[in-house]
Amino acid sequence: MARRISSTKLLACVTLVFSAALTVLYLKIDCVSLNDDNRNAVSIEDPHNDKSLHEGNIIDSDGGRKVKNAPNSELMSNNGDNKDWGYHKLAVIVPFRDRLEELLEFVPHIHTYLNKKHIRHKIIVVNQADTLRFNRGSLINVGVLESGNECDYIAMHDVDLLPLNGDLDYSYPESGPFHIAAPDLHPLYHYHSFIGGILLLTKGDYKMVNGLSNRYWGWGREDDEFYVRLKRAGLLKTTYVEKNGDTIPEYEIRRPVNITSGYKTFKHIHDKKNRPRDNKRYFNQSEKTRRLDRETGLSTVKYDVINHYRLVINDAPVTMLEVKLICDYGQTPWCLKKEDHHLLQNMVTPAPLR
Ligand code: UDP
Ligand code: MN
Repeated sequence: MARRISSTKLLACVTLVFSAALTVLYLKIDCVSLNDDNRNAVSIEDPHNDKSLHEGNIIDSDGGRKVKNAPNSELMSNNGDNKDWGYHKLAVIVPFRDRLEELLEFVPHIHTYLNKKHIRHKIIVVNQADTLRFNRGSLINVGVLESGNECDYIAMHDVDLLPLNGDLDYSYPESGPFHIAAPDLHPLYHYHSFIGGILLLTKGDYKMVNGLSNRYWGWGREDDEFYVRLKRAGLLKTTYVEKNGDTIPEYEIRRPVNITSGYKTFKHIHDKKNRPRDNKRYFNQSEKTRRLDRETGLSTVKYDVINHYRLVINDAPVTMLEVKLICDYGQTPWCLKKEDHHLLQNMVTPAPLR
């Protein structure tokens, strides 16, 4: 009797231990399958297994907000510089001032996006910290000069334009400048020669055209002037067409092909009401910025780097340069905000204002 009881107890004990072990195992399997880190790790190793990168698929949407901003994902904690992804490295250069909300959304988004595509990259935000009007061209010139030798190509990247389609090509633009935010994909700008928003160039090509003009203080047109620089340098795609018996060259910037997501390819988070454009024209600004600028650019931009921050936004690393641009008031007095125009009168050697 005593033996029988003890063997029953033993059986009960073994059953208990087994079922406890099974429960633990089951819970563990459940955790793994729900764990975002693990899911993302799989897509890092094999992007072809990642459905979000398949043709025409939109990676993100408004409904994806929570996922997009969620920290702790392996895609985000990867520092974006995996040497196994190839030789080339991209400097994502973001001209910036006073757009914190956009930046908080942009940095984790673009970092995760580029990691998914195995694009080695470094994000450089060039924050204009002076009291002059905003100068996108000069800030991008500064970003290129400060981007270090390890990056051999750049993306001029607006902070408020988020790529949603995983098929966009951010790889080294071997054949020439590559305009990602194409007019048939950009939600707002649809003219043929538009090259703003997001533009990729090798550093060699950027240097060849002496970068962007430094004359464009306030909103707009520096990208249109840059288009002319590229065209004159022979960096646009040339096709020859027959017109009235003559063979005429036509120039076009290289752009994405086979992207079918149209105006949903990007999210433009520009809040028009709170981010009004500074499109006033002062002094002879209109006249001076209508023509090709053969004088200013990468080689002439004047600035001080006041601070260099290494920040992390939701696990995404970003370099922020706090920059004070230096304006030649004689050449471009319209760099001053209207309320500072009186300063021109007190200058020792005021240059002629026409
Ligand atoms: N920008 C900025 N602060 C400003 C103006 C412009 O950071 O006060 C930067 C930002 O990266 C922005 C880009 O310059 O995305 C282009 O400016 P904006 O968005 O006003 O031009 P849009 O392309 O919408 O006409
Ligand atoms: Mn915008």
